[in-house]
Amino acid sequence: MRRPIIAGNWKMHNTTEEARDLVTLLRPLVGTARAEVVVCPPFTAIAATVNAASGSNISVGAQDLFWEDKGAYTGEVSGPMLRDLGCRYVIIGHSERRQYFGETDAIVNKKLLAAYRNELLPIVCVGETLAEREAGHTLEVVGRQVREGLKGLETGQARDLVVAYEPVWAIGTGKTATAADAQEVIAYIRKTLGEMYGETAAAIRIQYGGSVKPENIAELMAQPDIDGALVGGASLDAVSFAAIVNYDQ
Ligand code: 13P
Repeated sequence: MRRPIIAGNWKMHNTTEEARDLVTLLRPLVGTARAEVVVCPPFTAIAATVNAASGSNISVGAQDLFWEDKGAYTGEVSGPMLRDLGCRYVIIGHSERRQYFGETDAIVNKKLLAAYRNELLPIVCVGETLAEREAGHTLEVVGRQVREGLKGLETGQARDLVVAYEPVWAIGTGKTATAADAQEVIAYIRKTLGEMYGETAAAIRIQYGGSVKPENIAELMAQPDIDGALVGGASLDAVSFAAIVNYDQ
């Protein structure tokens, strides 16, 4: 069925040397994992990370990409550049991009299509803010982010998609959604994907993200629709991240 996928989002952490050290520690700790293992360094550490992960079961992803492949876009990094470095995955629409850099569902959609065009596997992030949750709008917000973000994506392509449900109020706060709350929203995401892609929705992997730790991963993974985790803070420590990756051992 769906192979679990555990990804570490390092955010704006780790120099090249720190990245190399972290991957060197991580490699032997996750070598027998059943889950797929991905680490997502900042752009500047991608090359060092790919090098350090070479020959291991650790794949590398970027945290963002630009929607055009080349041109006069000062400061941006494109899909072909990420492919060139050896990236396999790319995170798109993380809530920090939406919050601090004004990314909209329309931008997420352009980036998604750029990822597919360049054979990068997208991890598309969705999730509600605390105010949206308290107003009872969680499912509406997440449903809209899925439909708008994935516009134009064909059924044949959707199979390779990874969606990450990250409630904004659970990110970096130590507050995890309860496993039941996460399951409820993720089941709704799968239902929405079913309306868009039919039976293919059963093959799409959906992660939970937001204060995932070694202590809460097993309960999250026991939920029927949760297929993995997108891990921030705990992915910066090799032992913690390995404990999350090896949740079933
Ligand atoms: P934390 O695990 O630090 O809460 O971050 C979650 C996240 O945003 C991963 O993308």
